Amino acid sequence: MAPSIDRQGYWGRPTSTLDWCEENYVVSYYIAEFWNTVSNLIMILPPICGAIHTFKDRLEFRYVCAFLGLAAVGVGSWCFHMTLLYEMQLLDELPMIYSCCVFVYCLYECFKQENVIHYFPITLLLIFSISVSVVYLLWKEPVFHQVMYGVLVGCLVMRSVFIVTWVYPWLRPLCYTSLSVFLLGFVLWNIDNLLCDSLRATRQRLPPVVGAVTQFHAWWHILTGLGSYLHILFSLQIRSTYLKHRPKVKFVCGVWPVMHIESQKTS
Ligand SMILES: [Zn+2]
Repeated sequence: MAPSIDRQGYWGRPTSTLDWCEENYVVSYYIAEFWNTVSNLIMILPPICGAIHTFKDRLEFRYVCAFLGLAAVGVGSWCFHMTLLYEMQLLDELPMIYSCCVFVYCLYECFKQENVIHYFPITLLLIFSISVSVVYLLWKEPVFHQVMYGVLVGCLVMRSVFIVTWVYPWLRPLCYTSLSVFLLGFVLWNIDNLLCDSLRATRQRLPPVVGAVTQFHAWWHILTGLGSYLHILFSLQIRSTYLKHRPKVKFVCGVWPVMHIESQKTS
């Protein structure tokens, strides 16, 4: 979708190559897409707590990177939707590729020796990340970015399904919950793009707070944030089970899942 002409706000005319269905500067003069911005909190705060937990539990640094990578996407996405500036769009889209590469590394290296870094997959993923960044900086075609992100997600889905089919079938519920939540987010992302005119018309007829529920791009942030967070827990559970630690999922306030790992190994 080309940038639409909405109200003007603090950050001036949008320079991003994408502008989403939420009308610009409707809720706040300082935030271009209010709901698409604040919905990123779920992608920022829980992963930061996850990174702190992982660090305190002295688990492998790659999982701290995975949590921080997800938080970086949330911060980039916040800046992008708040400003609709091209530079901020890159701050959202490129970390999506980089953090997904970290997830791929974690999941494809989960049955290797502890604390050993393998440089071959890291080199491959670095070459992939750099190539995608260079091509995207030159070409500026959002579909290229979306396809490259889709390739990485496809690799994660294949590997996850392989692991729960052949190695740890008892992890199916966590795996399929994470995948379904992510997929639902993707469905809503598409609805938001394809049916934008009808959604905008519906919103006009609803009270503002109820109308906010129809901001499906914001739901995409919430669901992919949750799906990605669950994916990291899934990956962490595979790894710690393989290393014979004792992973335990606990629910903060009875709702939000966190992983606690006892460093003492089982026999
Ligand atoms: Zn977004």
